[in-house]
Amino acid sequence: MLPVRSLMLMSIILLMIFSGCSEESPANIPNVAISKPDYVLAIHGGAGVITKENMNEEKELAYQSALNKALDLGEEVLKGGGTSLDAVVAAITFMEDSPLFNAGKGAVFNHDGQNEMDASIMEGKELMAGAIGGVRTIKHPILAARAVMEKSEHVMLVGQGAETFAKEQGLEIVDPSYFYTQQRWDALQNVLKSDPDRSELDHSDRKHGTVGAVALDRHGNLAAATSTGGMTNKRYNRIGDSPIIGAGTYADNGTCAVSCTGHGEYFIRYAVAHSLAAQMEYGHKSLKEAGDHIIHDVLVKAGGTGGLISVDKDGNVYLPFNTEGMYRGFTKPGMREVKIYKE
Ligand code: ASP
Repeated sequence: MLPVRSLMLMSIILLMIFSGCSEESPANIPNVAISKPDYVLAIHGGAGVITKENMNEEKELAYQSALNKALDLGEEVLKGGGTSLDAVVAAITFMEDSPLFNAGKGAVFNHDGQNEMDASIMEGKELMAGAIGGVRTIKHPILAARAVMEKSEHVMLVGQGAETFAKEQGLEIVDPSYFYTQQRWDALQNVLKSDPDRSELDHSDRKHGTVGAVALDRHGNLAAATSTGGMTNKRYNRIGDSPIIGAGTYADNGTCAVSCTGHGEYFIRYAVAHSLAAQMEYGHKSLKEAGDHIIHDVLVKAGGTGGLISVDKDGNVYLPFNTEGMYRGFTKPGMREVKIYKE
């Protein structure tokens, strides 16, 4: 007969092995990587009041297939030994091209009937980062954020200056009408009719579609990226958390990579993305403990709705949200998951 201690040890090991196969690894197992995956990629397409009742089958399939395609594109990069930066960019540029998401082609309209987009990107090795805010003619805002990181001495450029820079970098510039979609236009008209002074900062009755990606590559490098059209009916050149490093996006090889979606003002005030890394580094929490604390405790108490996707340096993935749903998915060798609703 095996002694009780060996049996306990065996069950703990089994628990750890199974926990590695879930986006929700047990909180009481701090940062233990049983077998570090070769690579990991996680994505989100926004959080909000996304329920089975307000979805139809066709729409659900369209989202699932778009999320799978974005994962395919990013995974292809990682499988071939490419970098986490290239992987998050591959996933995000695809989602920026899709009218399903509130980023690039599907960006929402501001109060004046324009599309103003924000994006950011960060890599975890040197903590290099780039961001752009309030741009109207850059086809792929995430590529402009990357260019700021790699080709400028700055971290954040906004408005006209950011557009001039993107043009100088040879990025694709389009007429603002490229970003028009009927669905987003109608959404603005509805808000203008019902409550013209309210920028859509209240997630209680809206779905959102900001996109984000986080990845760990074979070289042990983490990266995170986020791209958005912000909030419907926003005014005064409002900028949310998505292009703010530490709020909407963060990556550090020592801890984790994070991309957020939700009510941006709260994510800025609570420095949500950086908070995960800080809790792990200074508080020695696991990725799940850190994510649960900020999303289900701090933000809920404050009234901030939304969620995040995260991957840590050991390849653990955690995708918490405090809304009805979040378009999300992750992939790693031998495993793929795409989900929309709360479990
Ligand atoms: N966080 C974004 C913003 O506040 C919106 C969203 O994620 O839906 O601009």
